[in-house]
Amino acid sequence: MIKNSYARPILATIFSQHLQHNLQIARQAAPHAKVMAVIKADAYGHGLLNVAHALRDADAYALLNIEDALELRAAGFTQAIILLEGVFNLAELQLCQAVKLSPVFHQPQQLEWLDALTDPQPLSVLLKLNSGMNRLGFSAEGFQSAIARLEHSAHVAEITLMTHFACADEISQGISQALAYFTQHTAHLPHPKSLANSAALLRYPESHADWVRAGIMLYGSSPFAEIPATELGLLPSMQLNSAIISIQNLQAGDCVGYAASFCASHAMRVGIVACGYADGYPRHAPTGTPVMVDGIETRLLGRVSMDMLCVDLSHLPEARLGSTVELWGTSLPIDRVAKAAGTISYELMCALAPRVPVQVI
Ligand SMILES: *Cc1c(COP(=O)(O)O)cnc(C)c1O
Repeated sequence: MIKNSYARPILATIFSQHLQHNLQIARQAAPHAKVMAVIKADAYGHGLLNVAHALRDADAYALLNIEDALELRAAGFTQAIILLEGVFNLAELQLCQAVKLSPVFHQPQQLEWLDALTDPQPLSVLLKLNSGMNRLGFSAEGFQSAIARLEHSAHVAEITLMTHFACADEISQGISQALAYFTQHTAHLPHPKSLANSAALLRYPESHADWVRAGIMLYGSSPFAEIPATELGLLPSMQLNSAIISIQNLQAGDCVGYAASFCASHAMRVGIVACGYADGYPRHAPTGTPVMVDGIETRLLGRVSMDMLCVDLSHLPEARLGSTVELWGTSLPIDRVAKAAGTISYELMCALAPRVPVQVI
């Protein structure tokens, strides 16, 4: 399923089987929990429906935009769909009733919309406790009165209690305080509970509860800076390929690209690759960022431009016009590229540009 047929050699490949494999890893790691597949941000840049189809065995989906939820319903998905930021107005809450979406309630105004509903159709909802991230969620006090309102609302059928950890991926900080806080304020309540993102799912079994919320691990990337994805048994779900479209022979002192930020100290061959920041490749990736050419690792040189980047071919005498380039994927872990570029794999995946053709295999 190739989205368009441009001849420009850039192509993203989505590996359905790797997504499925990673879901199995999540299930093995949290055998007693149900798995919410987090597919916000167009499924971390992979394409909402591409991932929803590959992960049709997920127990639920979690995302942000109600439009995306409606697209899943229109495509025939019947699982629970969680709106992680809840609804943004009353009309959206009415839509949740109509197509059975499960909004998160994280602030009091959302409860007022609940009281304004007239349709008797009951909702399945989540209530979020702020356990120290201080982004979304009720304070402990507000949480107790919110739970009472939800329990007494004629519009609410099922309530799941949730929180989100600020530091599940940071071994020095961890989740113990946040977990203790959540337990303190929810242990007496009979409702199902959901706490763990990928990092907590993999590292803290005590946080699994009834529902885990797997995001980045499904896409084959490690949630931990210090542990490579392969060590976690994960397989990459996205590969970005292009090709060499020009070769330059630099003499000592010649420079390449904008601002002449890389200059050759000796004669060298440079490959120009049809991939730039307008394709989603990070512009701030510095000289030295790993790139594969014909299956051999080499390095980025100079500044990434809008449509192109340059790679070192000095030790790749076989490389020629049309040589295959892997920017990240099965041979080159996206986490390595992200690290070199001073970011995280999440950002690289989400930034994959709409102009890049996508094939799902
Ligand atoms: C994005 C998100 C997740 C998934 O996080 P990963 O680190 O990608 O596993 C889980 N829960 C909430 C509330 C989120 O916003």
